[in-house]
Amino acid sequence: ATLRLKDPSLLADKCFVAGEWRDANNGEVLEVTNPADGTVVGSVPRMGAGETRLALEEAGKALSGWRALSGKQRAVILRKWFDLLMENQDDLAAIMTAEQGKPLAEAKGEIAYAASYIEWFGEEAKRVYGDTIPAPTADRRIVVLKQPIGVCAAITPWNFPAAMITRKAGPALAAGCTMVIKPASQTPLSALALCVLAERAGVPKGVLSCITGSAAEIGGELTSNPVVRKLSFTGSTEIGKVLMAQCAATVKRTSMELGGNAPFIVFDDADLEAAVKGAVASKYRNAGQTCVCANRFLVQNGIYDRFVQRLAEVVGAMPVGNGFEADTQIGPLIDQKAVAKVEELVSDAVQRGGRVLVGGERHALGHSFYQPTVLADVPPGSQIFNEEIFGPVASIFRFETESDAIRLANDTQFGLAAYFYGRDISRIWRVAEALEYGIVGINEGIISTEVAPFGGVKESGNGREGSKYGLDDYLEIKYLCMGIE
Ligand code: ADP
Repeated sequence: ATLRLKDPSLLADKCFVAGEWRDANNGEVLEVTNPADGTVVGSVPRMGAGETRLALEEAGKALSGWRALSGKQRAVILRKWFDLLMENQDDLAAIMTAEQGKPLAEAKGEIAYAASYIEWFGEEAKRVYGDTIPAPTADRRIVVLKQPIGVCAAITPWNFPAAMITRKAGPALAAGCTMVIKPASQTPLSALALCVLAERAGVPKGVLSCITGSAAEIGGELTSNPVVRKLSFTGSTEIGKVLMAQCAATVKRTSMELGGNAPFIVFDDADLEAAVKGAVASKYRNAGQTCVCANRFLVQNGIYDRFVQRLAEVVGAMPVGNGFEADTQIGPLIDQKAVAKVEELVSDAVQRGGRVLVGGERHALGHSFYQPTVLADVPPGSQIFNEEIFGPVASIFRFETESDAIRLANDTQFGLAAYFYGRDISRIWRVAEALEYGIVGINEGIISTEVAPFGGVKESGNGREGSKYGLDDYLEIKYLCMGIE
């Protein structure tokens, strides 16, 4: 099926490099396919280190003009970009569903969410405050400035093809940095469409570039080129560690949004319907392919049977299909590798005694569809409790006491999001403070918003995206010590 857009020029087949739309030096391309049916959606250049070097050089040249603008002047351009993103929400969502698979309603939601970072950080551009510090002696004055870090690089994943870019490009451009983006090869069309609109909004030449192609080659250049002062990455912990090690040679700053292993704890006094609703929202959004998706359900004895039964009922009724069909709630997984991983995790859990209540297999639709699944009585030693599932599978374990729940929840190297449901106010405080996570959803399954700081602890990464804290990731602190007579 060909993609019908109101504005077909949003579907780019070239990369945006230093203000120009270019093919790869060697003329090679990468095909982009729709995971729901295997059809080709488009193609993008297969670039490598050479094109990346050019983009970085130009980002270096563009820096002085961009950082010299006032925050208010940059905000005008970002506001325009935000407006264009919202005006083109339907087309951008269609491109996303075609290459990523998520239901169209979720894709539209993501475009609004992605745009909100551009709006927010444009506004924050006006609020880069410095500081004055009382000096210890009378003959000095101490002033603190915040200045843009410089040229930044971003490497982004396929699960949120638009929002993971604007969360980085928004604060970078607002702060006065320039940026070169390498999007995931599964979803480059969304990234390039954002650039079409950035260009229309008046982002100056070289301030933003987007390079598609070989991850290792482009990543190698982004992490080794001394022009780059900061790398922001969203993706797996495994690749994040590699990139951090590569960045060490030139002591780049890094922001790392890595994997999670979110516990979702339900205490006996929880509101059952609210907990099930939150569980579905947090687990099955994007077919389970988000880094804040509930990965392990820990449910207390007294509510266990009711919760499990109700969750299975709701999940068993979720419509699976092509994201363009109106009632679809669960689309395909991104690719066959993702399905194979889910199959392996489910089979291990079942071998160890987990019970399949609904789903448990590939879906009859074929391609990379997997049935929405609920597994009960999964022992904590199972792989599925320790690895990121990235699929529509809930695995549930029964616990007795609050301290058991906290111990199990924290027993992981990850620390991104955690969730719990309960009503006892003292316990809410105890548990919220004890969870070793960057984000805690309390009686709430959806935690993402541009106004709050998103990020993890432990091996889930460093840095925060969104909120008043998000701009700091793109700013350096400079201390001025002035001697006076
Ligand atoms: P996922 O499993 O979600 O695809 P990855 O961590 O493998 O997560 O990939 C996330 C992003 O990192 C993608 O844009 C991918 O192209 C990129 N990437 C993967 N491997 C490397 C690498 N060796 N160097 C640089 N970027 C990489």
